[in-house]
Amino acid sequence: MSLPTIYCGMRDTLELAAEDGWTVTIRVRRSRRARRLLLKLDPAAGPELVIPEGASRAQADDFAQRHVGWLRNRTARLPAAVSLVDGAVIPFMGDDHAIKHCPDMAGVVRVEQTEEGPQLQVSGGAEHLGRRLTDWLRKQARHEIGVRARAHAESLGRQVARIRITDTRSRWGSCSTTRTLSFSWRLVLAPVEVLDYVCAHEAAHLVEMNHSRRFWRLVDEICPDVNSARRWLDREGSRLHRIG
Ligand SMILES: [Zn+2]
Repeated sequence: MSLPTIYCGMRDTLELAAEDGWTVTIRVRRSRRARRLLLKLDPAAGPELVIPEGASRAQADDFAQRHVGWLRNRTARLPAAVSLVDGAVIPFMGDDHAIKHCPDMAGVVRVEQTEEGPQLQVSGGAEHLGRRLTDWLRKQARHEIGVRARAHAESLGRQVARIRITDTRSRWGSCSTTRTLSFSWRLVLAPVEVLDYVCAHEAAHLVEMNHSRRFWRLVDEICPDVNSARRWLDREGSRLHRIG
């Protein structure tokens, strides 16, 4: 059973239904680089169908329909999405904090230890709460990451030219040949050891622009527990992308 294909002009999408009536909207993208039909589920952006050159739309739709059960199971296993609203709980530097709307509070965001536990208190109108909190988290990320990345670079005898804070979904950090280090702001949600590991990783690329054994030895030298940080990102990383 399949719903009719819907082509929505600018954004090409495909609507599918599983046998039990579960429905899903899939983004459709043509790709010159893709070698074969591909159905992907990004924790933040949702499902995507990639069509390589040479494959017809009908073939692609048929392929997606055959894998709709897989998509439903994967979707069910995704961590729940958390919106930045009053009462929601999000991690900050690894510890869960309740978001508390304090309309009349001075300042923008305050971290408070209360009797009910740690809170991120956000001032101003409720309609701007999400944006204000995101802006503040990005600012914290810039500070926490900047300090650590520069310290790691220095310990390796290198200098960082620039630090960029991004919201890239596919990687936590990157290093360019111009010595610009880029990091996802979402690292500020993770435990500090994990944030520190990504800073060490990118700083080590200032010496070794590769993932060779020498590179990993360097990361090990400046970061105490690389493996547990990498395991944490594998296990919990998608949860961070479901926030906001
Ligand atoms: Zn790397």
